[in-house]
Order: sequence, then structure tokens, then C-alpha cells
Amino acid sequence: MENASARKEILKGLKRIVIKIGSSVIARQKPKLDDSVLELDEGTVSKISACVKRLIDNGYEVVLVSSGAVMAGRGRLDIKAPRLSIPEKQACAAIGQSYLMRIYEKRFEKEGLKVAQILFDHHDLGDRKRYLNAKNTINTLLSHGVIPIINENDTVSVDEIKIGDNDTLAALSACLVDSQLLIILSDIDGLYSSDPTKKIAKNGTPPELIPFVGSITNKILQLAGKSGSHYTVGGMYTKVLAAKKTISFGIPTIIMNGKNLNSLEKITFGEDIGTLFWSGTSKIKSRKHWIAHTLKSKGKIRIDAGAKKAIFSRGKSLLSAGVVEIQGNFEFGNAVNLLDESGKEFAVGLVNYSSRDLDKIKGLKTSAVRSALHERFYEEVIHRNDLVLL
Ligand code: GLU
Repeated sequence: MENASARKEILKGLKRIVIKIGSSVIARQKPKLDDSVLELDEGTVSKISACVKRLIDNGYEVVLVSSGAVMAGRGRLDIKAPRLSIPEKQACAAIGQSYLMRIYEKRFEKEGLKVAQILFDHHDLGDRKRYLNAKNTINTLLSHGVIPIINENDTVSVDEIKIGDNDTLAALSACLVDSQLLIILSDIDGLYSSDPTKKIAKNGTPPELIPFVGSITNKILQLAGKSGSHYTVGGMYTKVLAAKKTISFGIPTIIMNGKNLNSLEKITFGEDIGTLFWSGTSKIKSRKHWIAHTLKSKGKIRIDAGAKKAIFSRGKSLLSAGVVEIQGNFEFGNAVNLLDESGKEFAVGLVNYSSRDLDKIKGLKTSAVRSALHERFYEEVIHRNDLVLL
């Protein structure tokens, strides 16, 4: 199945791409220091900006998840000790994150691109309200052509509430923004059939790049091994675990070498690069399943025939003008059922308004809602991507 046309088929309709950049991809050895202190490599950030620019010019939307705060902070402080205490790591992250963003900003600006910093901790992605806030913010940034750059808020995230590694963060972000592809840039070409640092495996064969993984079995996890570096978190193991998450949400995921940045564009042409993880689930099925079956509905919204038709036949979002009646008490981000005029349930979705606000704006045109609710205004009552027809 693994050839350009199969990849093209999997990536059909590709618009939004999340790219995860590991610390090792944007690091280089610090000159004049005899041991392994790394520093941020501005030249690589420049190359990334040029690649992202080409993707944008080709009509894609790009979200970056970038590690490197701790690495860049260490580099600024010249800390040589291989292991850091938690406060030291957090201090490095505080120094490194602002520096990292400064360099991203500077280098992307040269390509005429604006960037925005998004820092998450575990609570942000576990709480529906914050989750939806983050999602709306990122959608707004993208609609203005801005490149969101996500990292974990390492300075405040202690171990118990840590997402932990940026591969997982990238997977969660890809689901959050409904991307159609996650690309994880690594320091090797992808997943290998045996340890790629050894020329010959125990069975006498050389390690070979696995171009396609259809399901993450224990054998695949074993091949991924564990990370050996003090400077990066994760390694191949967390990348494969991340792919497990994304493919269960219907998002194809590619692990490829971040040193071959030009390949980023080639991926969008369906070229056979890195390891592609894809289980063949239809792109929205798992997410629909999650909205419809995992979340508990907190209320009901009855809508008029025109709105139902727009949703049903034209794939539109629900707007305030079509809302007739609100039942139950719900908050922004809760799951609610949609009823047609006769009271029959036909859809479920994540609502952008509390029941109180929605009661105030039901039946109103979007422009009137904007002036009634000011900063609590959202274009849609339920965005199409958050809506599942039953
Ligand atoms: N958030 C960490 C940093 O920016 C990196 C974590 C990771 O590499 O997975 O340094």
C-alpha cells in the first residue's frame, strides 16, 4: 500500500498540518565549549521558516509545536551538568522560552510571517472550557495567517501536572486543532526494523526504515525503544505513543528526519518520506465518536427548520439566529443535544455559549450577538467541526 498514490489518498483534503520540532532538531553544539552544551541553532530556525512559508504559499495552514526552551536556556547559562533539578529545568525553560520565541519571531518575520506563543499545561487540555478557548484562539490566529507556536508551560508545570513530553503535546495539539496531518521531526529518518545505531541486528540483517505502520502493536512499541539523551525527552518511544493517539483520532502521522527540512514540502506531494502511521480510520469517525459517546450531554437546544436544513444538507455550523429554545443549564464547552422543531434529537455538539448567554441571544442575527455579548462573542453557537449528526 505504501507508494505515492496511497499516501496521496491518505492525505487527500489536507489543509491543516501540525509540525512538532524536537529540541535536537533546532540545537547545535555550542562552539568553544569542550563538552556537550547545546545552544539554539538560529540557522535551522531560518530553514524551518522558509519551509513553513512554502507550505503557507501552497495553501496549507501550519501550527508548530516546538521544544527547545530548556535546551536554549541551558545554552544561555552555559550549564554543563547533564542532569538538572526541577527548579533548574524550570528556570532554564523560563530563560529559554522567551529566547526561543525571539528567534522564531525574528526568523519568521524575514519570511513575512507572524508567530504567536501558546503555552499549555495539563489542565488546559483536560478541561473542556480551556480546551475550547485554546482551540478558538488558535483558529483565530490561523484565520489571520499567524503561525501558532505551542510548547508546554514548563515553568509552572510540576511533574504531577505535566504533559511530560512534546510528542504527546503535539498529538494533543493535532487533535485540538483538528489537523489532518501531524509531522514529528526527529533526529533520525523514522522508525527502523531494529536499533538504527547498530549496523547489524541480532538476526543478521541491517536496520531498515519502516515506511508504513498500520497499527501500534507491542512489537512496534518495542522497536521504538526508550530515549537515551539527557537533553531531549522521549525519543522514538514517545513519538510512537503520540502516533497511537493521533491515529486513533483519525489523524495520519509521519515521523521524519528534521535535518531534511526540504522533505516537509515533499510530504504534501505524497512522497514516501519517513514512517507514516495510519490505521485507515475515517478522518472524523473517532472524534465524532468521542463527542457523541464519551461526553455527557448537559442540555438541549431546539432549533428552527432553516437551521436544521443548513446543518443537515449544507454542512453548516449552528448560528444564534436558528436557536428557538434552550433546555437545561450548561456552560461554554459542554456537550449539548440539538432538537428539531418537533423536539426530535438529531445531533450533539460542543457549545460555545452558556445556557444563560444563549437564552439572551437566541433568534438574534450574528451581528446583534456581537454587540450584545462583546468579548463573549463567538461566530458560531456550535462550530461544524464540533457537531455530530446522530
Ligand atoms: N518543553 C520542553 C522544552 O521546551 C521540551 C519537552 C520535550 O522535548 O519533549 O524544553
